[in-house]
Amino acid sequence: MDRRYVHTVGVMEAAVKLAARYGEDTDKARITGLLHDCAKNFSDETMAEYLVRYNIPLDDVTKHQINLMHSFVGAEIARERFGVTDIDMLDAIRYHTTGRVCMSRLEKILYVADCIEGSREYYGGLEKIREAAFVDLDAAMTAGLIAAIDYTVAKGRPVHPLSERALNYIRNGEGQ
Ligand code: FE
Ligand code: FE
Repeated sequence: MDRRYVHTVGVMEAAVKLAARYGEDTDKARITGLLHDCAKNFSDETMAEYLVRYNIPLDDVTKHQINLMHSFVGAEIARERFGVTDIDMLDAIRYHTTGRVCMSRLEKILYVADCIEGSREYYGGLEKIREAAFVDLDAAMTAGLIAAIDYTVAKGRPVHPLSERALNYIRNGEGQ
């Protein structure tokens, strides 16, 4: 089966479980999980066209890693093509790659679900995120950001400032 499909269903299922655990709306979590990577498989050229269409600027980091924009473009497609109007759902999709400061509960749930879904191959930090996921959402979110940043640094790529700020913010105990 297609890897993207398996990942998507895995994220949807994980997001629903996390939503049930933390008192979030499970229908919102389900749809958000289902749509989160709807722009993931675009070529760089297609992504660039959507960036123009939706007037989304690139920055110093994303201009060299244009695939990072799949979350920002995905949110616009979720709105325009799939009719999602809920701002929290759209923001969860928009920030599922970078994170950001002041993430909502649904945003954290999608971020963590994306990290831990069952078809994920092993990566550094995965166990820590899985262990924390159903115990402490902020701890899981923190571990997820650290794993993503470590991975990016290991690949020799610049870390997105949204991720750096998200980690500083959540580490200083300001979880909400
Ligand atoms: Fe993604
Ligand atoms: Fe994903």
